[in-house]
Order: sequence, then structure tokens, then C-alpha cells
Amino acid sequence: MTDTVILWFRQDLRLNDLPALQAASRDGQQVLPIYILDEDAPGEWSMGGASRWWLHHSLTALGADIRSLGGKLIFRRGNALSILREVCEANNAQTVYCSRRYEPWASQEEETLHGALGSDGIKFKRFPGSLLHEPGSVLTQGGGPFKVFTPFWRACRRVESAPPVAKSQSSWSDYAQSDALSQWQLLPENPDWAGSWLDHWTPGESGAQERLHAFLDDAVSRYADERDLPAVDATSRMSAHLHHGEISPRQIWAMCEQKKLELPHSDTAVNKFQAEIGWREFSYHLLHFFPEIPDSPFKKNFRGFPWQADDKRLGAWQQGQTGYPIVDAGMRELWATGIMHNRVRMVVASFLCKHLLQHWRHGEDWFWDTLVDADLASNGCSWQWVAGSGADAAPYFRIFNPVTQGEKFDKQGMYVRRWVPEIAGLPNKYLHKPWEAPDGVLDEAGITLGEDYPQPIVDHREARQAALDAYEQIRLSAATSS
Ligand code: FAD
Repeated sequence: MTDTVILWFRQDLRLNDLPALQAASRDGQQVLPIYILDEDAPGEWSMGGASRWWLHHSLTALGADIRSLGGKLIFRRGNALSILREVCEANNAQTVYCSRRYEPWASQEEETLHGALGSDGIKFKRFPGSLLHEPGSVLTQGGGPFKVFTPFWRACRRVESAPPVAKSQSSWSDYAQSDALSQWQLLPENPDWAGSWLDHWTPGESGAQERLHAFLDDAVSRYADERDLPAVDATSRMSAHLHHGEISPRQIWAMCEQKKLELPHSDTAVNKFQAEIGWREFSYHLLHFFPEIPDSPFKKNFRGFPWQADDKRLGAWQQGQTGYPIVDAGMRELWATGIMHNRVRMVVASFLCKHLLQHWRHGEDWFWDTLVDADLASNGCSWQWVAGSGADAAPYFRIFNPVTQGEKFDKQGMYVRRWVPEIAGLPNKYLHKPWEAPDGVLDEAGITLGEDYPQPIVDHREARQAALDAYEQIRLSAATSS
């Protein structure tokens, strides 16, 4: 047994089912826990504003959990290698433990650390923890990467995933050199756009556990039927907890299996939920094999797509001022709470790429900054899925009609009325297409279109045709070049 070992927290902000902590507690007499904020290492994928807000609260919660066990979480800011070297030397520590990350920049950083710390005589040990199956462990029969979700998930289901590991009994080491978390200024100021977010979220391991229990005790039974209805609380809202590693997918998986044993009739709903966790796995699998996914189209013919850079259109979309109520509701929900319902994400993303012909990268960037669950793998793969350029993507010509999407998934208009209150007085018949409302109806609802609420930024039919024409261009150029 060695003396002090370092536990480097990264995107695994929890104490349960943490193999790195289990190993550190087993191997060291004392565990020194540290979180390092390195804003340079991720390059262009440095954390967005909403993620920074979440991180502040998640680290506060983790710090309190460790304190309650007699330890102290050290906060340091700067280059991970220099700080780990310094902390190892000051504490005479010879091993650093951490959980793996899978973003291309993070994998690269792990390789660098492995070599550099190794040359100092310090062991750098990485552990799994944020996925059910390590990327590369589930392959096609030919040994290649899956590019289609269904066979990938079928293959995953055939592999037993390891059960969660028990919480470790650790003896914690103390070290004086820590920043105060408040010094990092992770929270927004002037304006404080996240002022009410703690009403919506409880970042941290306990918050994640409570939310999962609440979901599995109640909403999961509605999941299969109602998960597409944005006005209904029928999804788990686990994505930000999962992204920050406050709960592991293995814990979720184990609880789902338990639920199915207790309530066999819940099988269909729970399986559906588990398959969504599968989409998260698939995104990480794709990012591992195709690390360029967040930046460039998976389908190469999309490189020549005639996107139309237009800041005015992009701004209207970002601000929820497109004149299409379901789109505007989603963009405003995102701004107000840091999250957007999955169905609405698909609608707003399709609208940006297809109706407004803006490059999906602009949408990906906006989501990166504003989502509390912003995740390089899931965000990049989802944007490409909607844009039609991704692996196993929705076909480009599947262009969501924002009016019929609204009428289908927000029939009673509860979602739109909540987030676009200026048109709440419209009857359901016109709520998703205010421009079709007769003058008398608009008067009665107290709305002047173009003043209280925008006229539609584009005409649906014309925009649809323009999108199909643009797609035809790359289809033809692919045909002539092959
Ligand atoms: P639930 O329906 O309860 O699903 C359970 C879990 O499964 C989620 O928490 C999430 O971890 C995972 N999941 C569900 N759907 C997907 C999916 N399509 N792809 C990958 N994982 C999924 N999800 C993110 O976690 N981060 C992102 O940055 C992100 N960006 C997206 C961008 C676009 C354009 C779209 C269409 C989807 C995006 N998603 C992203 C996927 C999905 O919208 C969210 O995971 C989901 O809305 C989170 O809500 P929930 O936790 O209640 O989901």
C-alpha cells in the first residue's frame, strides 16, 4: 500500500459507482481528491455558459459530500499536467487515478499525461465509468464500427455490462492549496440569466439520485406514450446529471432492471427508456471512431451543401422570434431553463437547417453554450442526425412542418402558451399558425402580428422547396462525381 494517491475528478462528479475512487481507496492509505479547471485544453469546445453554471453547483455538492466524509475537495485552475505534477510532488504521491473521458481533446490529453507523468515516475491510471460499454468494445462481426443504431444496440444488449461498484470507504488526505470555487466565476453576473435555474435543477449526486427515483416511481410508466409531449413531465431529465457524471449509466441500468423485476408490466416503457440511454452510448461510439463528427459532416457529400449564412435569420432563431410558435417556445424554454424537450430540439434543429438553411454548426454552437446537458458526442451526433448528414441520420428530405408538429405534439397548446405568452389568448385552432387567424380572432386575443409577435420569418412551403432544391444540388454533384 502506498501513502497518498491523487483522485482527479473530471466528468465524474460522484462518489458512488466510481471505479477510479474504488481503486484509489484500495491502493492508497489516503486519497487526495482534486478538480482542475483547465479552460485551454478543450480548445474550441471549452465549456459553455450553461455548463459552467451547472459545474459550479455540482462541484459545490461534491465538495460538501466529501466534507461530510472528513475530506476536502481541492480546486485548482490551469494546466492539468503542471498542477498534477505539483500536487504529486507536494504530497509525495506516486499515482493519479481518474475516469476516462472520450472527447478527442481529452483522450489526447490522457495520452500526454500518461507519458509525461510516467517519465516523472508517477503512474497515471484511467478507469471506465461514464458508459455501459467502452468505445471499441462493441464491434460488427467484421471487427469494424457500427454506423447504424439498431444493430449497434442489439449487439450491446448481448454483452453483459459490469454492475455498479459499491461506495468505497476512503481515508481522505488534506492539502491546503486550493482555490475558492467562487474565484472561478463560473456563475453568470450582469445579467444573471440563470437566476431561477435552481428552481428547475438540483445539480449534484443527490439531486441526480432523487430525480431518477422520482422518474422510475412515476413518470416512467408514461414514458413510451408521452415522451414526445413537451408539456408533459414524462421524461427523466437525467441528461445533465449523466453528462457531468453525477450518476453513471450503470446505476441507471441496474435500477431499470430492478424496476422491471418489481413491475413486469413496466417492461415496454423501461426498455424504451433504456434504448434512449443506448443512443447516448451510440453517440460516444461514433465520436470515438469518427472524432471529426462535432466539426464536419459524417456524410462527405454534405461538405458541398449550399448553406446560406444569414445572421438575421440565425438571430431570430436564437431569440425565439421566428413567428413559428413551437420553434419559438423551444428556443425560449432553452434560454429560460437551460434545457429543451427532445421532440422540440428536433423541430427547432430541423427548422434552422432546412427552413432557414443555416449550417448545423451554428445550432450546435448555440446549444453548446445554452444547454445544461451540452455534450460533445450527443450534441454533435444529434445535430448531424437532424441535418441529414450524420450516421444513421434522418433523411434530408424529411422536413418537419412546424405547424403540424405543434398541432400533433402540443395539441392543447400548453407548451406554447407557457413559453410564448403573448399569443396565449389565441384559440387552439390558430395557436400554431397565428398568421392564419382572422382579424377578429387576433383582435379578441389582443394580438397585432408583426408587433406583439412576429410574422413567420419564412413561408413553410417556399422554405421547404428551397431546402429540397439545395439538397438536390449535392445529390446531383455526388452522382456526377461517382
Ligand atoms: P430521456 O428521454 O429521459 O432519455 C434518457 C437519457 O437518454 C437522456 O438523459 C440522455 O442521456 C439519453 N438520450 C436520450 N435521447 C438521446 C439522443 N437522441 N442522443 C443521445 N442521448 C440521448 N442530449 C444530451 O445529453 N446532450 C446534448 O448536447 C444533446 N443535444 C441534442 C441536440 C439535438 C439537435 C437533439 C435533437 C438532441 C440532443 N440531445 C442531447 C438528445 C436529447 O434531446 C436529450 O438527451 C434529452 O432531451 C434529454 O432529456 P431527458 O434526460 O429527459 O431524456
